Amino acid sequence: KPRLYSGMQPSSGSLHLGNYIGALQQWRGMQDEYDAFFSIVDLHAITVAQDPKVLREQVRTLAAQYIAGGIDPDRSCLYVQSHVAAHAQLQWLLSTITGFGEASRMTQFKDKTAKGGQETASVGLFTYPILMAADILLYDTEVVPVGDDQKQHVELTRDLAERFNKRFGSTFTVPKPVILANGARIYDLQSPASKMSKSADNDKGVVWLLDEPARTAKKIRSAVTDTEGSIRADRAEKPGVTNLLDILSAMTGTPVPGLEAEFAGQGYGVFKTAVADAVVAELAPVRERTLELLADPAELDRLLAANAERAAAVADATLGRALEAMGLR
Ligand code: ATP
Ligand code: MG
Repeated sequence: KPRLYSGMQPSSGSLHLGNYIGALQQWRGMQDEYDAFFSIVDLHAITVAQDPKVLREQVRTLAAQYIAGGIDPDRSCLYVQSHVAAHAQLQWLLSTITGFGEASRMTQFKDKTAKGGQETASVGLFTYPILMAADILLYDTEVVPVGDDQKQHVELTRDLAERFNKRFGSTFTVPKPVILANGARIYDLQSPASKMSKSADNDKGVVWLLDEPARTAKKIRSAVTDTEGSIRADRAEKPGVTNLLDILSAMTGTPVPGLEAEFAGQGYGVFKTAVADAVVAELAPVRERTLELLADPAELDRLLAANAERAAAVADATLGRALEAMGLR
């Protein structure tokens, strides 16, 4: 089976609907077809300040959400990035073949430092895409399912793999990004020009998987729309309504044009209630299963330790090849 790799940061107490639609929902359907590695990327999370106690809990919470969302830890390798030392080691090797200008063109760094400024941002936040390249390349990954916000990083990964192979001899598999055409990016409910993000300032714009169902429904019913009153997709003129259509489409499997036809002539109130109902129906069982799994943290820890061993066996072999190729062994 072809190898698949993806990951999420334990950078909040819960995943949000964008992570669910853009990542988890896709991943669970790919487990039969692929030999999948799903990582909890804690080394990425510490590129911005984290409270150690809180971080430790968030790692477990994220593991529980992966499993509740349909990742089967017996079939797929579900592990914590920092438990496998090779990630940080390969990141260093790759950083030496990455151009400073090339790294400077990564838009996520620009987006994430737009508010606070680059002066106080960590160097780790800047080199984040190189660590992500190491994550992917360590597992001889062929396919990387990510939201379109991560596409540029996968392109960089491909460039670095090709460059390394050319300079030092064939060492890495060159991966491909896989992006869902529909619902590839979910936007903030209150400011539909920005993506739904763990680090949003306004909690009302973000639907958390672990929100209580009533709260989720309320957030969706208060989503920002427009004054035109018609339910149709138009990213430029109607970002709020378009986002809700994408969300409903991901929840129901009905393509957006079908939904436009279904809701033709209806008001926003009816439409939003339908979206809220669909999201609650999908997320409520995931939330409940997550809470059940969190009631047994020792079992979660055991599972993560066993999977880290499986991951390390693969990663160490690849790191060994890279060290050898560069003349470091
Ligand atoms: P942060 O804002 O702190 O970067 P995040 O919400 O982007 O957090 P990540 O852990 O960086 O979360 O991303 C996890 C996965 O979720 C990635 O595959 C990413 O592409 C996807 N993802 C993140 N936000 C969205 C979104 N708004 N819509 C669709 N997919 C998303
Ligand atoms: Mg992100």
